Amino acid sequence: MTNLKDNFLRVHSYESGGTVDGPGIRFVVFMQGCPLRCQYCHNPDTWNLKAGKLIPAQDVVDEVLKYENFMSFSHGGVTFSGGEPLVQKGALVPIFEELKKHNIHIALDTAGTTNIDDVTLNLLDNTDLVMLDIKHLVSTEHKHLTGMGNEKTYAFLEVLKQKNIRTWIRWVIVPNFNDSIEYATKFSELVKQYPNVELVELLPYHQHGVYKWKELGLDYPLKDTPEPEKETVKALAKVLEDFGIKTLYAK
Ligand code: SF4
Repeated sequence: MTNLKDNFLRVHSYESGGTVDGPGIRFVVFMQGCPLRCQYCHNPDTWNLKAGKLIPAQDVVDEVLKYENFMSFSHGGVTFSGGEPLVQKGALVPIFEELKKHNIHIALDTAGTTNIDDVTLNLLDNTDLVMLDIKHLVSTEHKHLTGMGNEKTYAFLEVLKQKNIRTWIRWVIVPNFNDSIEYATKFSELVKQYPNVELVELLPYHQHGVYKWKELGLDYPLKDTPEPEKETVKALAKVLEDFGIKTLYAK
């Protein structure tokens, strides 16, 4: 049994008024720590769990509740993002429980890279929406891109189905890596097996975070990779739509 006063969270930053991290207007908590090393990561400054600010769980709740009225007015809520929020899942459990007492809509922006244990299951009991990143369908390719295979992501997706948790799948489109029509077809076939998946969000790869890699003294591996053309994104979305899957992307 955990409670708020015993828990602390390593937080990178807050953002109020977020409009791209779930429905409505969102308060976003960007958390420290990530087990992945995505080659296109735009937040490499969240990787280190020991960085960021150590904040009492109660303070995180209080910060979210400051925006309670405007979240409810816009049918929004709070989104826990990162980094990988599940790295600190134990501290999130009492935070989610408290926020649910206030009827706050809670979204989790994750790659699902965690073990399925009681803590994960408890957390999901108070999660309204999961935005799950599937970085590549093939485990070896996933490992090439992120440093880890995709087995945990798939196991997480399976639990979301069993618990019938509303899920948005996020697909970051990287040219010459996961942007073919054939890949989109396989993606659609996967998604169709999960009735809890409400839509697929297509996110064109971009280089907005490159300056952070420089600041950290890291070499950016995808510097020669262009951003995908709008027409490509549209064509991939059409494949999903032809399977009857709802899509979300910047037109
Ligand atoms: S999962 Fe997110 S935060 Fe972690 S390395 Fe990948 S893009 Fe960066």
